[in-house]
Amino acid sequence: MGTEQGRNILLKKIKDEVLNFTKSPLYEDRVKNKNLPVIGEGSHRAEIMFIGEAPGRNEAKTGRPFCGYAGKILNEFLLSVGIKREDVYITNIVKDRPPFNRDPLSVEIEAYGQFLDRQIQIIQPKIIATLGRFSMRYIMEKFGLGDKLDSISNLHGKKFKTKTDYGEVFVVVLYHPAAAIYNPKLKEVLKKDFKMLK
Ligand code: URA
Repeated sequence: MGTEQGRNILLKKIKDEVLNFTKSPLYEDRVKNKNLPVIGEGSHRAEIMFIGEAPGRNEAKTGRPFCGYAGKILNEFLLSVGIKREDVYITNIVKDRPPFNRDPLSVEIEAYGQFLDRQIQIIQPKIIATLGRFSMRYIMEKFGLGDKLDSISNLHGKKFKTKTDYGEVFVVVLYHPAAAIYNPKLKEVLKKDFKMLK
């Protein structure tokens, strides 16, 4: 797993690379809108890593993941199961905000996936909780669970055991917290699914 210092250095390197990722399909848009890339935050020794989609407006202004409305809901869910936000690691697949909050494109996921792959390898979480269908697909395909892929409405609340080169990992599929903003029923579903993380 390496030392704390080693992990910090490697994660800082990712931050610098994303900052200077001029080849990214979202780089020009970031600069034009004076946005910040959002790398991730939390414990570098986290046992649980949450992976969202891409930064929204608030996130791109502050450089922090899940700090807007969806973040407020995520915080609520974490609190409801007694998990401290500072004990987990929270990141996204795509590190820059797609214009107008549109869904990330495949080319964007491909471009930024390398950074997420390295974050996982550095932090080595035992549980990877995917938030929404984009990170569900990316993570399940990455960890050889592609044959189990289905719609998120069928997979949410399920966990899949998989082997990585650093040991066993559970992939936990969750709806994206933003889905709960205007849907109280889904909020209850998410709250229930979060209990699996305890
Ligand atoms: N939605 C995401 O997927 N990620 C964030 O950081 C914020 C909103």
